Amino acid sequence: MDALRWGMIGGGKGSQIGALHRYAAALDGKYQLVAGAFDHREQQSIEFGESLGLGSDRAYATWQTFLEAESSRPDPVQLVTVATPNNSHFEITRAFLEAGFHVLCEKPLTMTVEEAETLASISSATQRLCAVNYGYSGYPLVREMKALIEQGKIGAVRLVVCNFAHGHHAGIENESNPRVRWRYNPKIAGVSGQFVDCGIHALHLACFVTGLEVASLSADLVSLVPDRELEDDAMVNVRFASNAIGRIWTSSVAIGRQQGLEIQVFGSEGGVQWRQEQPNQLLLTRQGQRTSIVERGDPHISSSSARSNRITVGHSEGIIEAFANIYVGIAEVIAQGIGADREALSRLHLPTVWDGLESMRAVSAAVHSSQSGGAWIEV
Ligand code: NAD
Repeated sequence: MDALRWGMIGGGKGSQIGALHRYAAALDGKYQLVAGAFDHREQQSIEFGESLGLGSDRAYATWQTFLEAESSRPDPVQLVTVATPNNSHFEITRAFLEAGFHVLCEKPLTMTVEEAETLASISSATQRLCAVNYGYSGYPLVREMKALIEQGKIGAVRLVVCNFAHGHHAGIENESNPRVRWRYNPKIAGVSGQFVDCGIHALHLACFVTGLEVASLSADLVSLVPDRELEDDAMVNVRFASNAIGRIWTSSVAIGRQQGLEIQVFGSEGGVQWRQEQPNQLLLTRQGQRTSIVERGDPHISSSSARSNRITVGHSEGIIEAFANIYVGIAEVIAQGIGADREALSRLHLPTVWDGLESMRAVSAAVHSSQSGGAWIEV
């Protein structure tokens, strides 16, 4: 199969996430970067595109010129990744979906629930894929955790504890860093800071591995660095539709913690644990038995985990491979013409517009809850 023609909006020079997308998309030879509008500054956008090897005709100054030019080419891009800050996700994703392109949008999908609902409707109506980059769900052992829970290895899920807490925005000096500052600016980030930035990854992971949906939540969103407009720490208590409960803690002021994503699921007959900083091992404890270590690539892992795995056990894989698994899933969707078939997308474990919408509902509920002194809000 020829490599898919791929384009990026955002992810310019020095951006946090742009290079990771490019490494991940390139990893399995399924994509070739052929077009992009990478920067909010026109000249930098063109120069950066050319520095990546794009022809001057496809290193665009803006996403609007990208859209117009690609729409009239005989060989347009087959997937567009949107990796701009939050406040432009909706406008750009909507425009590309409506023009008939498949889109992978960075999280959060939108700024509001209504915008996310609109994108879900457009994706359904146009049958264009709208994936959302919950990249941590691409880790082989996260998929193994999901498989173990589905197989009943820990019994009925009772409790999920998921933390995504780091300490990299703890200093007031961070306020002078534009890549940090926008994350706490409501005009760019939205109604939430740290919960939208990292907490929704934790919540998505909790729902992804358990298959549970959030029924209601109670939240405490707090800004600990002086003068920050949006929260830098959040504790969110969740009731799932099954009556299982979730405890989600996210923070950007937890000095000493690095990436800080970890998930533990406790069931009626056992528990499983995984940490993003040690992604190649998962701990499984069956009640009354010794804890065992499940290695990525061990011969007994589930098929969904095995197909997300690249190199032999004992060598490390990480975030690039996890993101690459999202890109592999999208390539399968495009090759098989799956479009926006929700069931088929779910079988591929691909995070989509519906996951993005669920997240935005949870974010909105968390903000309302926190503003109401931690009241329980239905999601
Ligand atoms: P960043 O500020 O480091 O980089 C943003 C990039 O987008 C810059 O190159 C900027 O010039 C460019 N840009 C801004 N507006 C643009 C426009 N209108 N057209 C073209 N380019 C434009 O931000 P980041 O940390 O890379 O985050 C980008 C997005 O990715 C955010 O929505 C963030 O939430 C998300 N993100 C996701 C993950 C993940 O794990 N999935 C991790 C980090 C960031």
